[in-house]
Amino acid sequence: MKILLLGKNGQVGWELQRALAPLGDVIALDRHGLAGLSGDMTQPQAIYNTIMTVKPDVVVNAAAYTAVDLAETEQDQADLVNHQTVKAAAEACQQVNALFVHYSTDYVFDGLGQTSFLETDRIAPLNVYGQTKVQGEQAIIASGCDYLIFRTSWVYAARGKNFLKTMLNLAQQREELSIIDDQVGAPTSAELIADITAQAIPQTAADSMKTGVYHLVASGETSWFGYANYVFEQARVFGLELAVQKVNPIPTMTYPTPATRPHNSRLNNQKLQQTFRLNLPHWQEGVKRILAELLSK
Ligand code: NDP
Repeated sequence: MKILLLGKNGQVGWELQRALAPLGDVIALDRHGLAGLSGDMTQPQAIYNTIMTVKPDVVVNAAAYTAVDLAETEQDQADLVNHQTVKAAAEACQQVNALFVHYSTDYVFDGLGQTSFLETDRIAPLNVYGQTKVQGEQAIIASGCDYLIFRTSWVYAARGKNFLKTMLNLAQQREELSIIDDQVGAPTSAELIADITAQAIPQTAADSMKTGVYHLVASGETSWFGYANYVFEQARVFGLELAVQKVNPIPTMTYPTPATRPHNSRLNNQKLQQTFRLNLPHWQEGVKRILAELLSK
């Protein structure tokens, strides 16, 4: 199996380099490309040409414009990377009959209610980033290619910038922290996303009925406040000395950001578990593992 991986150095892209390797020949690109192949997601035609040249069996797109607040003012750039180039890539996949694997987000929903969103629920993004991700999804579906769109949430990894690492740093510097307690979701490790992707690809290659949109998140739920407290508790178990003594739960409205965030980021992951006969473990399992990795260095 020949696999073209775009965005190889992101949180998910890095883990995919590891997880996809056993499936076959992986050509992994970052924005700088390699040997005449473009990995620049601001260049739709160049990405289209790259796929036409490589003629892979599978394209995995881990590249994205992920600066949620900046997207409010850099709408064109976000649209180019998350929509226009994704559309070109999907059209090339349709031409060469490649499976297109892509990642999307809980931000496609409006975040209302208390229950977990199903894949079929109404799309209503609250911010520009979410809007561009929706348009990316829709372009893939309209292209007619075989695809797997994995919507995920609250991604963390040992590598890259994320909430878990930010909290770990802040808790070593400050005695008091205030953390949002009215946004609920599931922290999901890049490792888990990559491993599930590697399991789902051969299954979909063998049965194109499995093509579709799936919610790929760890099981269980928490708020950012609950998540941070668990990180602090476990970090102490692993022997890390923290300065933080007091952690205050605060509502979103006391921490305004340029992009509106959904209050409810719960994604129902039953469809993925049933279709691929896979288990999505509780979010605390992955957090514990990453802390062990980070703190044993
Ligand atoms: P990262 O921000 O860690 O990685 C994104 C990657 O995209 C980076 O390697 C970046 O390259 C690359 N990239 C950005 N712009 C371009 C460009 N113009 N050309 C080529 N590459 C580019 O994201 P994650 O790994 O966390 O996210 C993976 C997927 O999951 C994305 O689709 C994202 O939308 C989705 N997702 C992420 C969530 C999160 O919490 N992070 C939550 C929900 C969904 P470089 O390193 O050079 O900047």
